[in-house]
Amino acid sequence: MKYISTRGQAPVLSFEDAILAGLATDGGLYVPETLPQFSQEEIASWAGLSYQELAFKVMAPFVDGEIPDDDLRELIANTYSTFRHDAIAPLVQTAHNEFILELFQGPTLAFKDFALQFLGNLLDYVLKKRDQRVVIMGATSGDTGSAAIEGCRHSDNVDIFILHPHNRVSEVQRRQMTTVLENNVFNIALKGNFDDCQNMVKASFGDQSFLPEGRQLVAVNSINWARIMAQIVYYFYAGLALGAPHRPVAFSVPTGNFGDIFAGYLASRMGLPVDQLVIGTNANDILHRCISANDHSLHQLVHSLSPSMDIMVSSNFERMLFDLYDRDGAAINKLMTDFKATGNLKLSDSALTKARELFTSYRLDDDEMVRVIADVWEHTEYLLDPHTAIGVEAARKTRRRQDIPMVCLATAHPAKFPEAVRKAGYPQDPPLPHHMADLFEREERYAVQDNELSAVQQFMKDNIRQ
Ligand SMILES: *Cc1c(COP(=O)(O)O)cnc(C)c1O
Repeated sequence: MKYISTRGQAPVLSFEDAILAGLATDGGLYVPETLPQFSQEEIASWAGLSYQELAFKVMAPFVDGEIPDDDLRELIANTYSTFRHDAIAPLVQTAHNEFILELFQGPTLAFKDFALQFLGNLLDYVLKKRDQRVVIMGATSGDTGSAAIEGCRHSDNVDIFILHPHNRVSEVQRRQMTTVLENNVFNIALKGNFDDCQNMVKASFGDQSFLPEGRQLVAVNSINWARIMAQIVYYFYAGLALGAPHRPVAFSVPTGNFGDIFAGYLASRMGLPVDQLVIGTNANDILHRCISANDHSLHQLVHSLSPSMDIMVSSNFERMLFDLYDRDGAAINKLMTDFKATGNLKLSDSALTKARELFTSYRLDDDEMVRVIADVWEHTEYLLDPHTAIGVEAARKTRRRQDIPMVCLATAHPAKFPEAVRKAGYPQDPPLPHHMADLFEREERYAVQDNELSAVQQFMKDNIRQ
């Protein structure tokens, strides 16, 4: 399988090179040249497979023999052995034909573990084979950092540096990162905000000359293709559990950077009968405005109670646009260049029509979201986290057919976001799962750094292992 850039100007890469590349040199994102297609008979034959067996079926065509089958199976087995629930992605019913897909059973309690546990193992495997060492650098406002650290803590060939805004992530989120004490893990608390962190990472990817000879930076944000790929699996898993491919299914996804829901779109393109994909956003609603009113324009960032969806632009939407514009790299290049210059992007009529065939969208502010947590708790005694609550309500508000099962993706465990849960009237901080119960007693390690690029890069240089 070859991987091509959404902007059509960058070198075509193999699977392994694409996951090491991050952004393409033309500013685009890597996507597979063709999508694997599964027939209804083949999908039907997967009913009853374990999550790990299914993951192999879905991902193998993307890897296309670059990793031997037995090795890929072992990578998958190792990845999901750290999950607390034997079903890996269990389903819970919350209303008639409405289900919650619990994607928070991994080590850091958010769906990002599905992709980042896999990416960590995959990088370790590929780098060992190539006898190569890399440096991971990433910025986080919460969930990505801990999931990436957890995924890479045992990788001998990776040094990982994660920047978070000093005093601006929740204590649970900080401790999930800073209590990992392996000597290849470095947490930097930057005296600045999340944008400052992100800008520093961007600048460092742009000019990597500060790194020791022979090292390169690798991205772990959702522009990395391996993350999207690993997320396709749970759409098939939930679909099969609810009667696909004999029956269609629908999904609702709390959306920020559009990585998670894009995987659902790919599942439908690969043969899973998906009737509807619901985009739920918080007040940072660029995607809701785009789908509902063709208004994809930059607005100010709003800090919400669902912080993992606080974005101004959804980076993976470019991959969607690439398909909506019939994979015309030149058209995407122009669209994105204009967007950068003007802060505005209008979809063509045909692109918007195509998008609306599958996608609906809905936006909730904090007050509405809190009411949803309270309402679902009252009716089912099921406690939603704030992100999941947005997806549940977006599904209830825009659902097209009651007779088709609606799967709401639960992207985080409520214990990660006690503030929102308390506001909903829940009488206590939701307890952390057993394996993390002592999180607040664990030793922490992190470096507080001034908001200065040269200082951060010097810190990295001093700590990258020989
Ligand atoms: C990252 C995240 C999201 C948003 O996912 P995208 O792939 O960026 O759209 C939603 N909920 C939680 C809890 C997250 O951590």
